[in-house]
Amino acid sequence: MEKKVTKIGVLTSGGDAPGMNAAIRAVVRTGLYYGLEVYGVMRGYQGLIDDDIYKMESRSVANIIQRGGTILKTARCKEFYEPEGRRKAYATLKKRGIDGLVIIGGDGSFRGAGKLSHEFDVPCIGLAGTIDKDIAGTDFTIGFDTAVNTAVEAIDKIRDTADAHDRLFIIEVMGRDAGYIALHSGIATGAEHILIPERKTDIEQVVDSLLEKEKRKKLVNMIVVAEGDGFGGAEEVARHIKEKVPNADTRVCILGHIQRGGSPSCLDRLIASRMGYQAVECLLEGRYNVFVGIQNNKMHYIPLQNAVKAKGKISEEWMKIVRILAS
Ligand code: ADP
Repeated sequence: MEKKVTKIGVLTSGGDAPGMNAAIRAVVRTGLYYGLEVYGVMRGYQGLIDDDIYKMESRSVANIIQRGGTILKTARCKEFYEPEGRRKAYATLKKRGIDGLVIIGGDGSFRGAGKLSHEFDVPCIGLAGTIDKDIAGTDFTIGFDTAVNTAVEAIDKIRDTADAHDRLFIIEVMGRDAGYIALHSGIATGAEHILIPERKTDIEQVVDSLLEKEKRKKLVNMIVVAEGDGFGGAEEVARHIKEKVPNADTRVCILGHIQRGGSPSCLDRLIASRMGYQAVECLLEGRYNVFVGIQNNKMHYIPLQNAVKAKGKISEEWMKIVRILAS
């Protein structure tokens, strides 16, 4: 028979994402609703190792659903990669009697949780939180919708000034391994070209297309580049284009960390609330060592050990849409 969970911990780990606070709130309030004690762990796995943990009440999560960042802070913790680090983390859990853990983070955090649960039999539940939407098995991740809307808002503004001066803008958005932010924000802002890690960047095709547009006096062009595109990001793309299309008034804008911050969108608050609630339900039902995703608007549970980056999943049709609409 599964042992009964009575005290749970919640932490945020890895890259931060808007909506993490909404997820923490949902875990805390659902846990309290079911009579559990809930503990907040500071700075991801580092807080487990250092015993930087405090008891959370309903008021601890008041007025945070609309706030970006994470009240528990997040970190990348080298020590946790080592068995000794995980042993220390387990010692803290044991000392405090915490018998279930909710981890809000990306695929790396889930792999860490998978090891902790495997080695020490700690029930762990993951919640997919990353702006990159690069986790296989879920249609949404907490933070993606907000990040992509931030990018859209910024690109719209850049287009205004590009249009005023007849300029070509090369805009870099986040996405070291995944091009979802670039693809979604690029389509939504009518970008002429979108360069993503999942597709080999054919820079000469971009150059030819810009030269052809120049001939017909279409001078305002937006190229959205994911930071991890194969050609080397916006700066490299700009260097090449300035050389091959010298008449274009070419500018670069790197959006950077603004994409991580800000008040979470309605969608992110909603999925964070649903996932946070479901994480506690999983612990109570004994559905351990999975992460919670959403597929076709239904909750979906994927074993933590199977957490992988969703790579190369962008359909040919999406790329066709980009080509057709950006003529
Ligand atoms: P994300 O969760 O956003 O993908 P990371 O990959 O940096 O971010 O992972 C966050 C933390 O999770 C790491 O700093 C580390 O503490 C832990 N972690 C990641 N991968 C592993 C692993 N293979 N084994 C143990 N711990 C891991």
